[in-house]
Amino acid sequence: MGTVTKGNLIVPKAIFSIWWDDRLGPMVGRSYPEAAPLTSEEAVTVFMGHGVNQETEIGYSKIQSGLVISYMRPPNCLVVLLEQGENSASIERNLLRLAPTIDFDSDNWDKELEKAFHGLKDLITETSGEELLLNPSVKMLVGDMMSGRLQKIIPKHVLKATVRYPEAHQYLGNDDDEVSRLLRDLEDEEVLESRTFGRKVECRQCGNSDLLVELQCPTCYSSDIHKVYTVFCPKCSNQFHAVIVDDLAEVTCVNCKQPVKVNELAVIDVEPLCNACGTASNDPKIVFRCATCGKQLKGADLLSGTGLAYYFRVSG
Ligand SMILES: [Zn+2]
Ligand SMILES: [Zn+2]
Ligand SMILES: [Zn+2]
Repeated sequence: MGTVTKGNLIVPKAIFSIWWDDRLGPMVGRSYPEAAPLTSEEAVTVFMGHGVNQETEIGYSKIQSGLVISYMRPPNCLVVLLEQGENSASIERNLLRLAPTIDFDSDNWDKELEKAFHGLKDLITETSGEELLLNPSVKMLVGDMMSGRLQKIIPKHVLKATVRYPEAHQYLGNDDDEVSRLLRDLEDEEVLESRTFGRKVECRQCGNSDLLVELQCPTCYSSDIHKVYTVFCPKCSNQFHAVIVDDLAEVTCVNCKQPVKVNELAVIDVEPLCNACGTASNDPKIVFRCATCGKQLKGADLLSGTGLAYYFRVSG
């Protein structure tokens, strides 16, 4: 029951909820559609999938009835039971899309869980097969790539310095930016008052908190650095060295001579090698730049922002 096949895509079997009680441990909640309840042993397994301190948002675990992917917003955990052979990476992406729309503190949790199940189903439909390709923005992107107007989509690796207020989530929802905005609104209304709490990264030139990381040679400070990777070949299980430059789709294993897709390579070690002076070093100089204006951030920038805690404002 509860499975819908659409092409080669299978919609999850069920969604479960678990929450953590500091005294009692994991408490197994409801499921939608009604399914055999999780045992408390399975609930512990799912929680362990998020690390010992529940530090990862997405967890994978195997329980009696199959593979589950879970989303953790402590103390709550939303668990999706997969059908065998299902595209788990796609479910993970859609679970992350779904999370901000869930009210983890809803007083009608059964309804919320039902809504979450249908929401996930809708997201999977919208982001796969025909519906994905009929999405007007996607259509334009694919059209521009076909005609060569857009040749490639290259990444910029930005470290997001997100501020999160966990105590406020159960009242104001899960969107970190929106929670911060609401707290500032409440300060404007003189309901809350902010006080200093720690320091945060903030570029002194433009005020942004996003970072880019750059490596430089520790000897000559050149940024022209090659990376020599030690990688694991999934085809023959041997290790080999490779210099992985940009624009590669696959590399050939030196042992079994088979091509391996770059997104399937497991990197075991990396040794930076300077192209300018030839120094090989595992301890390159690490430079932070502002992702918005490009300024190189020094210690003062990294410590310049003031973290804020909020308190109820006692009037009078
Ligand atoms: Zn190989
Ligand atoms: Zn050098
Ligand atoms: Zn900046």
